[in-house]
Amino acid sequence: MKEISPEACLLHTPFEKKDAYSALAMPVYNNVAFEFDTAEAMEEAFCGRTTDHAYSRITNPTVQYFEKRVQVMTGAQGVTALNSGMAAIANTLINIAGQSANIVTSPHLFGNTYSFLNRTLAGFGVEVRFCDLTDLLAVRKAVDNKTCGIFLEIITNPQQEVADLPALAAIGEERGVPLIADTTIVPFTTFRAKDFGVHIEIVSSTKYISGGATSLGGLILDYGTFDWSRSPILESWAADFGTQNAFTARLRREIHRNMGAYMTPQAAYMQSLGLETLNIRFARHAAVCKELAGRLREVEGIVSVNHTGLEDNPYHAISKAQFGDYPGAMLTFDLATREACFSFMNRLQLIRRATNLFDNKTLAIHPASTIYGIFTEEQRQSMDVSQKTIRLSVGLETADDLLEDIRQALK
Ligand SMILES: *Cc1c(COP(=O)(O)O)cnc(C)c1O
Repeated sequence: MKEISPEACLLHTPFEKKDAYSALAMPVYNNVAFEFDTAEAMEEAFCGRTTDHAYSRITNPTVQYFEKRVQVMTGAQGVTALNSGMAAIANTLINIAGQSANIVTSPHLFGNTYSFLNRTLAGFGVEVRFCDLTDLLAVRKAVDNKTCGIFLEIITNPQQEVADLPALAAIGEERGVPLIADTTIVPFTTFRAKDFGVHIEIVSSTKYISGGATSLGGLILDYGTFDWSRSPILESWAADFGTQNAFTARLRREIHRNMGAYMTPQAAYMQSLGLETLNIRFARHAAVCKELAGRLREVEGIVSVNHTGLEDNPYHAISKAQFGDYPGAMLTFDLATREACFSFMNRLQLIRRATNLFDNKTLAIHPASTIYGIFTEEQRQSMDVSQKTIRLSVGLETADDLLEDIRQALK
């Protein structure tokens, strides 16, 4: 057969073993433990010399099949599924950081990620260096020989700032520091992280991949492109498992196993199904979002619209170079005041008042009073989170449906 398309590859990803009943979809192996024929086979598996399943906190056939499908789609060397995006972030950073190490990042981060870095990790002696990642000189200054990673979100939420990924990757390569990107906002079917120098990709699969908010999940993708012998923490793992394999080796054999946040088989089943329609759903989400962003600018009461797909957006050129014509399905707009935002939220009839991104339904939220509600006004300002901003996660309705609801809610 000729080379088949990525879509066909994904759909027809083979199982590792033939199913006993010839099931066409990977069944949900909702069991905890796996039985061995002999003590010897058990020893081999527990010492990591065979890939037999032993216990579902560590590996599970249904979850592994989901990981395999992601691997087929992305070409990543190692894929690890976790039970939320936050678990993926926490596992990744704990895998590379240690006491007196530092992480260089932007203050423009998802609220829980900011809190994880600034409070949780800081409590274990990891320094977080917030800097403007769009200012390469500032990044060069912030990185030193204790830096264990440059971490960022590819389109920040809600500010929608876009940093130059190949330039940051180049600084990282030069200084022996991996580039770690949370790519949740643009799925890997559209944004090929490896081509832009990203070494480790993190995804909240709760969002597009779950197929309409069916389940929580997270993914860590290791492209095998970083030389981990340059990382003080992973140096010894690089010596034992290979310079390109150290990250996933330690993740799977120590951190992920010990933290116990593996994806559940039920979630893996749903998200595996979600992958099958990811491409077509994303195309629709993103096209409706872009159309809506353009048309919202004509709506009375809306002061400004922020979406990097708009040609006069300050990040348009770099966004187009990295993510193409359809940079995700999130947009924000500003109203005159915080009170106007609350009144708008309260009058919505079709659009739902809820957090989450890329549900099939369109969702609206006022970020300053919710996701960033527990921060002080000063902290919110340092993160550029404004009281006047509404965030929309655009679903699968039509732009006409959404515009009508927005217009009536602004009246
Ligand atoms: C939602 C989100 C997360 C956290 O993911 P969960 O699956 O909710 O834990 C992290 N980063 C970004 C950009 C997100 O949108």
